[in-house]
Amino acid sequence: MAVLWVVASGVLTSVGSSAVAAEPDSTYQRARRSFFSFKNDPGRRQYRHHWFRVIKGFQAVSTKFPEHALAARALYTEAELWKGLYGVSRKHSDLAEALSKYELVELNHPASSLADDALWQRSQLFLHKMKRLPEAAYEVSDLLRRYPEGDMAKRARATARELEGTKPHEPDDRRSAQLPFLRGRPREGEGQTLVSRFSHWSNDSYSRVSIHLDGACEITTGQVEFSSQASLPSRVFVDLHKTSLPSGFEEPIDINDRLLGRIRVAPNGADSVRVALDLKAHTVEHRVLVLENPFRVLIDVYGGAGALDSSATRAGSTISRRVVIDPGHGGHDSGASGVERLLEKDVVLKIGRRVQSYLEREGVEVVLTRDNDTFVSLEERTAIANRAGADAFISIHANSHEDPTVRGIETYYLDVTDDQYAIRLAALENQTKREKLKDVHLALSELAARVNTPDSKRLATGLQANLVQLAARTNKGTRNLGVKASLFYVLLGVRMPSALVETSFISNPQEGRLLSTGAYQEQLAAAIAKGVLDHFNSPSED
Ligand code: ZN
Repeated sequence: MAVLWVVASGVLTSVGSSAVAAEPDSTYQRARRSFFSFKNDPGRRQYRHHWFRVIKGFQAVSTKFPEHALAARALYTEAELWKGLYGVSRKHSDLAEALSKYELVELNHPASSLADDALWQRSQLFLHKMKRLPEAAYEVSDLLRRYPEGDMAKRARATARELEGTKPHEPDDRRSAQLPFLRGRPREGEGQTLVSRFSHWSNDSYSRVSIHLDGACEITTGQVEFSSQASLPSRVFVDLHKTSLPSGFEEPIDINDRLLGRIRVAPNGADSVRVALDLKAHTVEHRVLVLENPFRVLIDVYGGAGALDSSATRAGSTISRRVVIDPGHGGHDSGASGVERLLEKDVVLKIGRRVQSYLEREGVEVVLTRDNDTFVSLEERTAIANRAGADAFISIHANSHEDPTVRGIETYYLDVTDDQYAIRLAALENQTKREKLKDVHLALSELAARVNTPDSKRLATGLQANLVQLAARTNKGTRNLGVKASLFYVLLGVRMPSALVETSFISNPQEGRLLSTGAYQEQLAAAIAKGVLDHFNSPSED
């Protein structure tokens, strides 16, 4: 099943997949040609999907050849496209994409001639589009500090004078941006796993560091307490065995948010690498998770109790509830596919947006993990949820089965389970091969036991009841497949009641057709929203 699903996604990754064997130059030239034909076609510029097609062309360059000089150009042009799209759409998320792509130009390609241009563009977006003067001041001062001789310096100085008296403030997205790609040499000894890069997300009470590796490895982890003798801060470390470190990590990586100081990476003995995170005083707890395909190690760090349990401080007060809605899949990951080439990623995004408007009408604040057809990694989804400090997390999916007569609605919460059916499904949603799941199972069972299971089960039960009741009005003959426990990575590490809804079977002709209609999407969304509201209004049993 998992293989079928990957093949099905080929439809939407035609740019990417044809670029696999291609050279950076030809991939870039192809993207440019599509850009110019698009630029001269005002009709096409009215539609988001045409923008996305051009954007994808440039993404093929920057993701497949991240070290190549053309990747900087591709990222910069992509940022320009998001800015242009914002001009049409006025959607804040488009502007945020533009800001983050400019940021990546500067982070990944600091020596490129476009790096200071990218910072300049960021300052102008903060200044003119967002009216955020402290952030604009930060960007121009950063530009002048790092590229004082560059061709943007003169303009930056003029803006700095304009903003004199404004206290610079580091933009939030700077802290959540990916850390630089490492410019390392290729691996030396065969058989060794190689550390490739780090990424990071944080807010005041939560910080997540993700270590990306080019293959699987064994890990051990531990904590070292503050030592006044060595004047070293308390730190948590992860040892990556049979792993080596390419050049590019000699200097500590600065995180410097509220919980973490620096990441230090160094060889530890002959064939192991130690990654150590300096903990600040606010830190109270941490945990380490392992994800596969691609293999990465996540370190979650949590702050003091007051900041940690944001749902408790908000409950019952006049401050509204906050919910994270997670439309599954996206971008090159299409999810399951069904009748008339209907793709799970498209359907669940539409349902997610409808849930958002339902809940917002009820005064509930909603954070979407994605608001367009982009790929969001599993750890990023949970990081978004934890960073938002939300009161509930709902992942929305459409189900699939090789037997087209199989249909129905089911809802999951996170748990370890021996249920073979649930394992098959978990493999499909987790992008993990089924054979590998058993080991992952064992490794994660201890962590899963620490999840807030009773509250998640209660949330899942309420969602399922509403879905079956409301959706069955249109979806005659559907089956209530019940509430189940399973091991979904997307739910793993989420610090709030969380559930995953399998709305209907996209592989069933009747349910697949229904899923494509606005009316049924609306019904599903209403049921999910009602399930969330019921959850907030009924007291917890424990
Ligand atoms: Zn799915």
